[in-house]
Amino acid sequence: MTGDSTDRSQLTNPMKPKIIVVGSSNTDMILRVEHIPQPGETILGGRFVTAAGGKGANQAVAAARAGGDVTFVARVGQDGFGTEAIAGFQRDGISVEHVRCDRTEASGVALIFVSCDGENSIGVASGANARLSPADVKRATAVFRQARVLVTQLETPLETVEAAVELAARRGVRVILNPAPAKPLPDALLRRVSILTPNETEAELLTGVQVKGDESAAEAARRLLARGVGTVILTLGARGAWVASSGAAGRIPGFAVKPVDTTAAGDVFNGALAVALAEDVSLFDAVRFANAAAAVSVTRLGAQPSAPTRREIERVLRTGGVAGKAG
Ligand code: ADP
Repeated sequence: MTGDSTDRSQLTNPMKPKIIVVGSSNTDMILRVEHIPQPGETILGGRFVTAAGGKGANQAVAAARAGGDVTFVARVGQDGFGTEAIAGFQRDGISVEHVRCDRTEASGVALIFVSCDGENSIGVASGANARLSPADVKRATAVFRQARVLVTQLETPLETVEAAVELAARRGVRVILNPAPAKPLPDALLRRVSILTPNETEAELLTGVQVKGDESAAEAARRLLARGVGTVILTLGARGAWVASSGAAGRIPGFAVKPVDTTAAGDVFNGALAVALAEDVSLFDAVRFANAAAAVSVTRLGAQPSAPTRREIERVLRTGGVAGKAG
């Protein structure tokens, strides 16, 4: 990914819109093995990699590379994983003033077995992510005063998400809530959300509608709008995204690519979407921008390493496709 580090220098543009991301940071420890070990079984010969992950961190990195001036509000542990995560955010130009080192809990870690045939088995220790508090959000009030968009997800305590959404709504900051991982949400929270971005599974959990095509996507979106959400952007994998607000609804097709690894496609989508909306691009164009960013990410391995730069996203929008490798 040498192309990435050169491209990132373009993000020193002083006109970059301010975006605040409140969420999780994990280190993904991935072991590729022949098959997933059974209880009591030991397998030798696996290949091990670590990668920066966590939905909040992935979305913050994606937004920074897409051209946002990003402040990340998060907690890591006082350990090597936390130090490395923070260094990574700084390399992407993300403000880490509000990334706190928790004194008692370790950094979040995901232990992931991936088998040859693509099956996986994952255990997550939330660690410091579970201690991200409404007080942490409050400490970042000054950032909310300047931000145009808040992006948050559900890998940190719900009360913290609620505090962030409330603070943003009070300050007139647009709220993108990515309801992942899926869990039931109170209407009081949904009413404050400008844009809800579930994938098909999350939309089904929230509405009871199994999303299989445009018609069921439209029905799921209608139910979410009825609960008070401003706009629904339901992501549909390779098919793109269904967009619905009180004024209009329709599907914005995805870009055709050869998928290599779809990990974090949704995260890259949300990060890029935040930047386009913060730049006051129209809703449908913002979704096209997010589709383009996510399409690039599925052609690459890993979560944060797969997030494209602004230049790469614009190239896809110009040419209509993902041309070869990065750089
Ligand atoms: P999640 O990663 O949260 O499950 P989706 O699978 O819906 O979410 O993917 C999010 C977005 O990523 C889609 O809306 C689309 O823009 C893009 N995307 C995902 N898979 C592909 C694919 N195979 N080809 C092109 N774009 C894709």
